[in-house]
Amino acid sequence: MQITANDPHRKSWLATEKETDFPIQNIPFGVFLTKEDIITIGTRIGEYVIDLSAFHQYGYFDGIPLTDDIFMQDSLNDFIADGRKTWRLVRNRIADIFDAENSELRENPTHRDTIIFDVNEVEMLLPIDIGDYTDFYSSREHATNVGVMFRGKENALMPNWLHMPVGYHGRSSSIVVSGTPIHRPYGQTLPLGESQPVFGASQRVDMELETAFITTAANHLGEPIPVDEAEEYIFGMVLFNDWSARDIQKWEYVPLGPFLGKSFASTISPWIVTMDALEPFRCESPKQEVTPLPYLQQSRSDNSYDVVLQAFVETEKGDLNLLSESNFKYMYWTMSQQLAHQTVNGCNVRAGDMMGSGTISGPTKDSFGSMLELTWAGKEPITLKDGTKRTFFNDGDNVILRGYCKKDDVRIGFGKCTGKIISPIKLK
Ligand code: CA
Repeated sequence: MQITANDPHRKSWLATEKETDFPIQNIPFGVFLTKEDIITIGTRIGEYVIDLSAFHQYGYFDGIPLTDDIFMQDSLNDFIADGRKTWRLVRNRIADIFDAENSELRENPTHRDTIIFDVNEVEMLLPIDIGDYTDFYSSREHATNVGVMFRGKENALMPNWLHMPVGYHGRSSSIVVSGTPIHRPYGQTLPLGESQPVFGASQRVDMELETAFITTAANHLGEPIPVDEAEEYIFGMVLFNDWSARDIQKWEYVPLGPFLGKSFASTISPWIVTMDALEPFRCESPKQEVTPLPYLQQSRSDNSYDVVLQAFVETEKGDLNLLSESNFKYMYWTMSQQLAHQTVNGCNVRAGDMMGSGTISGPTKDSFGSMLELTWAGKEPITLKDGTKRTFFNDGDNVILRGYCKKDDVRIGFGKCTGKIISPIKLK
């Protein structure tokens, strides 16, 4: 089935700015709360949000097999479980109804008033009920940088790294939607040169510039997903800031890996941009230096996406400072390889599971995806516009991730993924 929603020549009767992240070619999915306190699934065009349950009630999805309440929900899980054919039909229909040439809804003010809202009138919520969350470690530049810092240049990459997409299972309970403030976490750390740990608030709160993909129900327990089929099961992507307390992480991570230094919070952007919308921005993934084992070998080579990724910090004075500009295309392991690897042992993946890319660093210093790398473990502080310096984040710092794709005249983006670091909660 053709993805007619992606037609680059299509224009909408809803006015959009030229540089919007949400032209009619995007049609992402999210969940929001209206002024009337109603939670609904919706999409977005420019600065307008579209209530898809009202849209469905008025019959604009006629002919598409959807249950009556599919969009009248507080998460996208059931819609995601409907599968790729349905996602595509729904996106194509929305594009058709909002096309500048189509007057059906445009000339029905009663319907318009119930379906379309100003984006500032709604509150975005977490778009999915995340069952399981895996975080990978798939950027070679990031893994190398961290390896050099902790083990030296010779042993930077662990022996397994070029053979498999390394990952770990994270907590889904503390994944929050963009805009949620993040309390500086408490934990154990081992001060430099000491032999006994101390307890206190982390002094090294960091970001991780990542994306994450959301899956549909993919396999039964025991059945691996073949790598060339994996794309079928990926609904879409979000921006993902996988907050990290580096001092807590450093003391706790041996031998079982990331734990409390990671699980205090992770932030995602509210709009899930579908893989269908990202299709025109496919690109080659990096050549893999070591031929992977057969279960990780893909038939096609255009397995990546050209998505510019940016991280900013906004200080309390309101200055916006660009910290890093990276790109999804630097990822060494692809999402299909990650999903094939995740399931090769028979582990089942469900609708609404989320898989993080791992910090995505580029080859140059201005493209590193964490403060750990940008300041080289705190040794090279960054000076911000207001003259203050940062190694890691201060209370009051608002960290903003952005991402967008651009090709010819079409630009689609992810909106913002923001989180402000605030003081630790007062202990009882
Ligand atoms: Ca991470």
